[in-house]
Amino acid sequence: MDCIFCKIIAGEIPATKVYEDKNMLIIEDIDKKAKKHFLLLPKSHYASLEDANFREQIALGRAIMKLPKLKEVLGLNDGYRLVINQGEDAGQTVKHLHIHILSGQKMGWNPA
Ligand code: 5GP
Ligand code: ZN
Repeated sequence: MDCIFCKIIAGEIPATKVYEDKNMLIIEDIDKKAKKHFLLLPKSHYASLEDANFREQIALGRAIMKLPKLKEVLGLNDGYRLVINQGEDAGQTVKHLHIHILSGQKMGWNPA
């Protein structure tokens, strides 16, 4: 499949990995939009929330709920923001669902 995140998960394209388990991989974003910018990649390929099957829904929930335990490892202790860009208006560029983890600075509230 021609999906850049599937290739990263398969180890075919290099990435800076910060955490991995059987359901997810967390990497550094190649083009940081905040002082700290990670991407949580479910290992299963689906484009958007509405495309996730039941297993994928459970795995995504578990992945998100693991973040409090990873705060130390990722350096998120002063707070963090989770973002999912879905579709055209949100500017989703990679059609493999991913969660942006933004941290390391004070953030405003401007979706533009
Ligand atoms: P989207 O706009 O789809 O929500 O986010 C895609 C994100 O993936 C962007 O922040 C972009 O910088 C990041 N990205 C795209 N290609 C690569 C890559 O090859 N490696 C890494 N680490 N990040 C990537
Ligand atoms: Zn994929």
